Amino acid sequence: MSNINLALALAAVPGIPAHVMRSLAKEGVSTMADVVWHLPSRHEDRRRMDVMAFQASPTPSCHHVIVTKCANKFFGRGKGTFEAVVQQAGGMLGQQLTLRWWNMPWLSKSLAEGMELIIYGVIKDFKGRLSIVHPEYEIIKGGGDDEAATIHTGRITPIYRLRGGITQKALRVAAWHVFQHLPPDFIDDLLPKPSGQGEFAGMTRAKALREVHFAGSNEALAVARRYLALEEFYGYQLRVAQRRRRMLDAGGRSQKGTGELLRDFLADLPFQLTEAQQRCLDEIHRDMASAAPMNRLLHGDVGSGKTVVAFAAMLRAIESGAQAVMMAPTQILAEQHARSAAKWLEPLGLSVRLLTGQTRLAGLADQPSLLKSDIVIGTHALLFDKELISNAGLIVIDEQHKFGVAQRAKLIRKSATPDVLVMTATPIPRTLTLTVYGDLDVSTIDQRPRDGVKIVTKVRGRSKQAEAAKFLRDQIEEGRQGYIVYPLIEESEKVDAGAAVKGHAEWSKRLAPLEVGLLHGKLSPEEKEHVMKRFRDGKFDALVSTTVIEVGIDVPNATVMLIHDAGRFGLAQLHQLRGRIGRGAHTSYCVLFIDDKDDENLQRLAIMEQTSDGFQIAEEDLKRRGPGDVLGHAQSGEAPLLFGELLADTRLVRLARQLADKTLEDDPTLSRPALAAFRDPSGTSDKAQAMMQ
Ligand code: ADP
Ligand code: MG
Repeated sequence: MSNINLALALAAVPGIPAHVMRSLAKEGVSTMADVVWHLPSRHEDRRRMDVMAFQASPTPSCHHVIVTKCANKFFGRGKGTFEAVVQQAGGMLGQQLTLRWWNMPWLSKSLAEGMELIIYGVIKDFKGRLSIVHPEYEIIKGGGDDEAATIHTGRITPIYRLRGGITQKALRVAAWHVFQHLPPDFIDDLLPKPSGQGEFAGMTRAKALREVHFAGSNEALAVARRYLALEEFYGYQLRVAQRRRRMLDAGGRSQKGTGELLRDFLADLPFQLTEAQQRCLDEIHRDMASAAPMNRLLHGDVGSGKTVVAFAAMLRAIESGAQAVMMAPTQILAEQHARSAAKWLEPLGLSVRLLTGQTRLAGLADQPSLLKSDIVIGTHALLFDKELISNAGLIVIDEQHKFGVAQRAKLIRKSATPDVLVMTATPIPRTLTLTVYGDLDVSTIDQRPRDGVKIVTKVRGRSKQAEAAKFLRDQIEEGRQGYIVYPLIEESEKVDAGAAVKGHAEWSKRLAPLEVGLLHGKLSPEEKEHVMKRFRDGKFDALVSTTVIEVGIDVPNATVMLIHDAGRFGLAQLHQLRGRIGRGAHTSYCVLFIDDKDDENLQRLAIMEQTSDGFQIAEEDLKRRGPGDVLGHAQSGEAPLLFGELLADTRLVRLARQLADKTLEDDPTLSRPALAAFRDPSGTSDKAQAMMQ
């Protein structure tokens, strides 16, 4: 156990110049801990000294040089530019390189002729004269402190994210002296000894921190970063695991059902459940039968048939004498579900209530009748209806694809402990489900009901719109319908994006005399529903829309989708949009328009042409954007992860989870002082609350 107090002020550390301490203090970096935990965002390998001649190159290089001349120069109105002419130390005498610092005349006080420097920067060639503007430099001889090891150059150099007036050099100097000062075991380990983990054998928290700042080798740096990432994921998993245990402790209903309703329902369906649907349903029913509250995510690509599975789950709740509640993110979707429920569930003798915006406003009065219906369907606003929620045996939350899953689930937990089934069509890469949905069990429908229906996707330059229009017209003449999607509602001066409103006028003309509808987010819910109804009923041949159609809408007769400015969309979102077609018996066509010479997007979107497997697309997205980005949304509310990019490393995440589970088994209250920060503060009170209901 170390007895070093990292909370001590930097003044306790020998060697940090006063001006460095002052500049750090201004930005609140005043203790050793502040410096130790200000981790580098990346590193530059400045080990290799270039002993060859100076040479212009787009990549920076590192040189050991002697200053042969230096002076302030004044050009025009500038504040004065400091220039130093240098030569390679110990070789290639005669070849000159000019170092130039704009507006930094005070450098004449620190640099002088005869000094030896290590410099690092990009050498440019201007008409045969070589120069570096604002090189990183370090005085190694002639500066009065000749014995000092290099801090900024000649090593794998840490690069920090800066804030305020702090400079790289100031932070690096401070970090250097702090680590010189600290003993090898300056901090206790957070992780339990990861015994048998070959990679981390002998690694400690203190060593990892030291390596991450001033690495001895690239290999050691990589291990240290992974060790710290493991620590971070471990902390995250500790929280998740505690939440999970708390929920299980809370106690729920055991809903075993009689099987009668389900049998009739399945017998009346015009199709058989796929194997994947059946497996997911079994998992759900198993959870519902158990006394612990279910908290499960049903995860399946667009069109994988989640709704039927949800209905089957709801029947089990009703068989068990409870009510089932289903929520959708939009009114349109809620009405769509209510229609399906009316078609499939009312024949079983069940009462289905749709709670629309209006009935809700007037609805408080008929709460009793609401509580008597077998099934209540509405928007997510239902979540806030405490009585309804605590009365329900099962709550289904549909298309919760904006990631706030854990928060939603928590909200429900606050008031009661019904079984909860969350459904999402966002194909979260398998590597990430563990992290994003750490406290949910995950069922994945990884199979599509009708493999026969194909969606042909093409990426095209916008100049091909006329051809696409002709194609759309042909399809409409064969009795089909189409979507035309725009990324924005109104033309904005700043954003050069096609606008739905303007697009509607254009397409109405282009497709005349066919009927073209317009749907966007600024319409009232009633207007939106009216437009959707007309489209569904075939009154509109085509529908110009913004991304409001992104989620869940099911119009099987629509077989064409033209997406404008597709370059503005993420892959996952395009996949969602595309899921609106290919839902009937007919081959469907999706055209992604990009700017004519936009090679970057041509490349990025190529995957959309190659596959309609949402998981493959999600993996591709992950590769391009990095999991930190993908997870960015998921984590709203939680601090962003420092090592987010390592989240795709399933092995590391799994290891973190194992270690967290082990820790909680050995020490359920996290009594070890190092774990204090991860103790679940709400644990006891929530349990008490749950018991009172
Ligand atoms: P999503 O998972 O995107 O919500 P839906 O539940 O809307 O998918 O289902 C898409 C379509 O597939 C619906 O029209 C539904 O009736 C149909 N469907 C669902 N399961 C099957 C199945 N096993 N066989 C054939 N069609 C199915
Ligand atoms: Mg759906």
